[in-house]
Amino acid sequence: MTEPPLPSSRDEAVARFLLNARNLLGDKGFTTDPDKMDSWLTDWRGRYTGRALALASPASSAQVAALVTLCAAHGIAIVPQGGNSGMAGGATPDASGTALLLSLRRLDQIRSIDAASGQAVCEAGVVLQTLHEAAEAARLRFPLTLGGKGSATIGGLIATNAGGTQVLRHGTMRAQVLGLEAVLASGELVDLMTPLKKDNRGFDLKQLFIGSEGTLGIVTAACLRLLPAPIGRATAWVGLNGIIEARTLLRQMERALGESLEGFEVVPAHCLESVLAHQPSARAPLADRHAWNALIECASATTDSSGLNAMLETSLGAAMEQGLVIDAVIAANETQADAFWALRDGISAAERALGPAMQHDISVPVDKMPEFILAASPAIEAEFPGTRAVAFGHLGDGNVHFHVLAPAHAVRGEWENTHGKVVSARVYDLVAQWGGSISAEHGIGQMKVAELMRLHDPVSLALMARVKAALDPADLLNPGKLLPAGAKR
Ligand code: FAD
Repeated sequence: MTEPPLPSSRDEAVARFLLNARNLLGDKGFTTDPDKMDSWLTDWRGRYTGRALALASPASSAQVAALVTLCAAHGIAIVPQGGNSGMAGGATPDASGTALLLSLRRLDQIRSIDAASGQAVCEAGVVLQTLHEAAEAARLRFPLTLGGKGSATIGGLIATNAGGTQVLRHGTMRAQVLGLEAVLASGELVDLMTPLKKDNRGFDLKQLFIGSEGTLGIVTAACLRLLPAPIGRATAWVGLNGIIEARTLLRQMERALGESLEGFEVVPAHCLESVLAHQPSARAPLADRHAWNALIECASATTDSSGLNAMLETSLGAAMEQGLVIDAVIAANETQADAFWALRDGISAAERALGPAMQHDISVPVDKMPEFILAASPAIEAEFPGTRAVAFGHLGDGNVHFHVLAPAHAVRGEWENTHGKVVSARVYDLVAQWGGSISAEHGIGQMKVAELMRLHDPVSLALMARVKAALDPADLLNPGKLLPAGAKR
């Protein structure tokens, strides 16, 4: 009979870590049960599946700090996870099974909502929709929203510097964060919560954690900006002949509607048809089909809905007289406005039902976006016969979702990992040539590390690597995400 191999010092360290972590968090906060971990080990898009040593779910910032201290002492890598709605595989561990999956979902307290100062203090695991509802109950508003609001958490939104459909007016998550609290790779808790309007004591350290995808620290809480609740809202669906016209209309609307213009989304005919086919109860807002559609949203805390509707009607009427707008409808009520938005929000699911596709959340300067779409779409379709390129989304932010649909009969799961990767590389080449970004919203995660290394400025990459090395010298925080694992620094 062969003797079982003697445990290595690494195995012993891992066993000691597992014991200590369970003692720290108890059964409610710690599991190695594969069934309980399973659903958190695959990303939202179903592109990545990993393995984890254990799933830890601490319930307080102090527990996160104690857990990270333990990880540091035992050399255990950590993959932070919020709602697991991210689009770049950033919250999915690799296949080695050596990292701890650290869920922040039990840090779900809204510590305070202060109407006078317009501030909310939230723990990292608070779900975006929960914050919306709490703010509304206090006649306030958190001015960032996105399709994944039912699962995306404040920590995840901060870690990815999320955008959404109101960036045009209110900015990305970075603009909403007044302060934050984070646990460093050493286990120290850094308190950057004081929401000072002016503070010039050196580096604005909270900015390091915003958009760093869990690679520099674990966000445990944040102080966020709230605005007065709007008293009016107006939403229009507009038919246009082309994307150049859409940009001209955007600029006109910015001038005519000023501060009240919140969203300007573009939807090409192909996307609208896909949604109508995919959602049998959905209705096209206009009688005729148009090459491009714009979804325009206004909101105001000082002008009511009838005032906003009147402003929108006047400016759209002028655009129709110019021949810029072919047809337009202003939502008669909230239900109709929501139905317009459901068409926009339904695009990803409808496109997915059509078959495999490569999705690219890219940005170029706002003024160049129409020309980019007009140049890149036919170039990609010509280079990869049978594909179809569609661009939709946040034209007002210079950010569109540039999806390339696979040729008919392509096999899901296979095409994305072979031909699809070549298509993506080509799309990113074009984006780089146009002075844009390969990630406008979703981050780099594990999905785009190689492309970031290939296309980003080498000096910026070296600087990012030096910041990472300074804050996380042992590469324990989300290794392999955003930057290559163990990259030489
Ligand atoms: P996760 O997916 O769990 O994690 C995302 C990243 O953040 C990972 O790298 C993870 O390690 C890290 N992380 C999570 N929590 C923490 C923490 N507390 N501390 C440190 N690091 C952490 N995004 C947009 O920007 N704009 C959109 O319009 C948009 N629309 C979407 C629509 C749908 C239907 C869906 C499903 C998603 C959409 N997203 C959008 C993507 C997603 O919702 C955002 O990226 C969101 O910020 C992720 O939050 P999360 O809590 O799910 O994070």
